Amino acid sequence: MDKLDPNNRIGFSSVVAKVNEIVAFLNRRNGCFKPPTPQEVEAYAKEYAGKHSGIDGDISGADFCDFYESKGWMIGKSKMKCWQAAVRKCCRDGWCGPQAAQKKTPLFPISGRKCSQCPLPAVYKDSGGAYDFYYCSDHMPEEVKAKYE
Ligand SMILES: [Zn+2]
Repeated sequence: MDKLDPNNRIGFSSVVAKVNEIVAFLNRRNGCFKPPTPQEVEAYAKEYAGKHSGIDGDISGADFCDFYESKGWMIGKSKMKCWQAAVRKCCRDGWCGPQAAQKKTPLFPISGRKCSQCPLPAVYKDSGGAYDFYYCSDHMPEEVKAKYE
């Protein structure tokens, strides 16, 4: 009928604008998910750490993205809804980033136990098998040494 009405074009573009508005609204409502770039992750982590004392914002965006990309941006069985929340968790728990890999567990002497291979006090107990084995910091398995300081 009034298909040739030039006003229809204006009507069409305003419909497009409306649809875009709705899509943007739904995206916001469904969480903020769109996989971030490593730069976005690091920038957000720094911003978050800046606002909260005791938070380490020095995380590796590349490690973060690699980790979640390898999991299809899933957390357990559900799709990640908000990468910012995952970054915050990462900052709090310090599980990602090169620092985390280097972070070592301090060793404490195990009271009343000596190394199974020398007279030094034991600091590590290996209870993988049927018996517990105790080791000093020199004699504990190499792969264990790497995790402790
Ligand atoms: Zn020893």
